[in-house]
Amino acid sequence: MTDSSRLVETFMENVRRRNEGQDAFLQAVEEVATDVLTIEKNDPGFARARVLERLTEPDRIIGFRVTWADDRGDVQINRGWRVQMSNAIGPYKGGLRFHPTVSPSILKFLGFEQVFKNALTGLPLGGGKGGSDFDPKGRSDEEIMRFCQAFMRELSRYIGPDTDVPAGDINVGAREIGYLFGAYKALKGQFNGAITGKGEAFGGSEMRVEATGYGLIYFVENMLETLGETIEDKRIVISGKGNVATHAAEKAICEGARVITLSDTSGTLVAENGFSQEAVKWVRAQKAAGEDVSDPPKDLELQFKEGALPWEVEADIALPCATQNEIDEDAAKALNDTGVRLLAEGANMPLTAGAMRKIGESNMLYAPGKATNAGGVAISGLEMSQNAHGRFDSADEVDRSLKEIMGNIHDRIAAEGREGNRINYRRGANVAGYRKVATAISAYGVV
Ligand code: GLU
Repeated sequence: MTDSSRLVETFMENVRRRNEGQDAFLQAVEEVATDVLTIEKNDPGFARARVLERLTEPDRIIGFRVTWADDRGDVQINRGWRVQMSNAIGPYKGGLRFHPTVSPSILKFLGFEQVFKNALTGLPLGGGKGGSDFDPKGRSDEEIMRFCQAFMRELSRYIGPDTDVPAGDINVGAREIGYLFGAYKALKGQFNGAITGKGEAFGGSEMRVEATGYGLIYFVENMLETLGETIEDKRIVISGKGNVATHAAEKAICEGARVITLSDTSGTLVAENGFSQEAVKWVRAQKAAGEDVSDPPKDLELQFKEGALPWEVEADIALPCATQNEIDEDAAKALNDTGVRLLAEGANMPLTAGAMRKIGESNMLYAPGKATNAGGVAISGLEMSQNAHGRFDSADEVDRSLKEIMGNIHDRIAAEGREGNRINYRRGANVAGYRKVATAISAYGVV
C-alpha cells in the first residue's frame, strides 16, 4: 500500500463508520478523497482546518413530512429533505429531485458533488441538494401542484436568495418550478430570487433550460480541441430522454455531430444515421406528456430496442445523461469494445466505482459530471445575479457566458490535471474544486 492509499483508507474508515450503508455518498467521497487528501496533508492550513472531514459532514440535513391530498381526496404522505452541504463560497445551491430513490444518502452524495461542481463554475455558489421520495409518474397536473405546494410549505422556511437557492433536477422541471415558486411567493409575500430555473416571465434566465445539455457539448468540444479534433461527424451515444439528454442531442446535431441513441429504463432508441432535430423534439414531447418512446412514428427513422443499452452501439463519444450508477463494469467494457474514445458525464456520477476503474485503465478520455454538467448550475448563478440586479440578459448574452464558463472550467481543470500530454479530468476537477473551497474554509477559522 502506498502512503497516499493508506491515507485514503484511514480517512474512509472514519467516513464509513459515520455513514454506514450510504453507498452512493461513500462512493462520491472516496473518489474525491483519492485525489485531494495528499494535497490537504501537504498544506498546513488545509490540514489544520481538516477540510475534507468537514466537507463530508453536511452543515445540516433538514427533513420533513409532506402531506397532501390526491385527486380522490385521499391523504398522501411523502418525505422531503434539504441537505445544506456547504456555504463556504456562497449560498447553498443545488437542485430538487422528486423520485422514489431519493433518500438522505442520495441527497448527500449529490450535495457533496454539487459543492465541487459549483466551485468549478467560478461563481459564488455553495452546495446543497434536496427533494422527495414522491413519484410523479401517473400523477395529474393538479396533484403535482398540490404536492409542490405542500413541499414548499416546509421548505420555504429554510431558503432565500442569500441563504439557499434550490432549482430543478430529475422530475423537477419548468412546471414544478412554477408551482414551487408560486407557493414560495405566496407564503413569503416576497418576490425574490430564492429559486432558479424560473420561467422567463417571472425572473427566469434565458437559456437555463438548455444550459446543462448545451454546456456538456461545449465542454466536449473543448476536450476534442486538445486532441486537435472537432465534434463534426462524430458518432455520439447518449442515454436518457430528459432535459440534459435532449438538449445535449440538440446542440450536438447543430454542431454537425451524429447522435445515434437516446434511451430510457425500458430500452434504447437508435438512429443509425443520426437523430434529426424533429426526432429529438418528439422524444422531448413524449417525455413531457408522460408517454413512453417505444413506438416512434415511422418518418422519424428511429428504432426502439427493448431492454438494450446505448453502450452496445458503435460510437466515438458516449454521454451518459440519465442517472447515478447507470454504467456498471459490463457497460464500461461494452463502451471499450465498441470503440468509444471519449466519455463525458451529463448525469451526476453515472459510473459505478467498478466502471470508473475500467474506464481509468482504458485509453478513453474521461470527464466527470462535476465539470461537464456544470453549465446548468452556472446559468442558475447568472439567474441569481440577474434577479439581484433586476435585469435580464438576452439569450445570445447568456449563451456566450455559458460557452465562456465551460471553457474556463476546462482550462482550470487542464491546469491542475495535466499528466504529460494527457489531461486527467477527474483529478483536475476534484483538485481545482477542492482548492477553492478549502482556501475559503481555512480562512474562516473554527466555525
Ligand atoms: N440539478 C442541477 C445540477 O445537478 C442544477 C442545480 C441548480 O441549478 O441549482 O447541477
